[in-house]
Amino acid sequence: MGCLFCNIISGKTPSTKVFENEKVYAFKDINPQAPFHVLAVHKEHTKNIDELNENNSHIMSDLFLAINQIAKQENLDKGYRVIINNGPAAGQVIWHLHIHILAGKDDLGPMLLK
Ligand code: AMP
Ligand code: ZN
Repeated sequence: MGCLFCNIISGKTPSTKVFENEKVYAFKDINPQAPFHVLAVHKEHTKNIDELNENNSHIMSDLFLAINQIAKQENLDKGYRVIINNGPAAGQVIWHLHIHILAGKDDLGPMLLK
């Protein structure tokens, strides 16, 4: 049993790459929820926010700096939403910390369905 997103990072599982640097890989979500739906993952495997600590908190800054670059690269000048589903109640199904980047609409709608 491997990790799907580790396999995507290594190229074992195909993906549509949008951005890559030394630390972060970003690719198109296979089931897009907006015209632009990209997942940003750190190359260092961490399950989710619950596993963060003083020694690996660079994961979040590396991810957000990459998102800053992705937004410029992809001209997301109207704005974009970032989402982390953390744990079962939030609908996390892939246990490798990832940030959803959603854009491509003038109005992305409410944050949560009521
Ligand atoms: P989450 O519910 O936050 O764990 O999100 C997992 C996301 O991964 C979902 O939006 C899926 O559509 C996406 N996903 C699952 N498998 C793949 C894949 N092979 N390539 C790209 N995205 C995927
Ligand atoms: Zn992984």
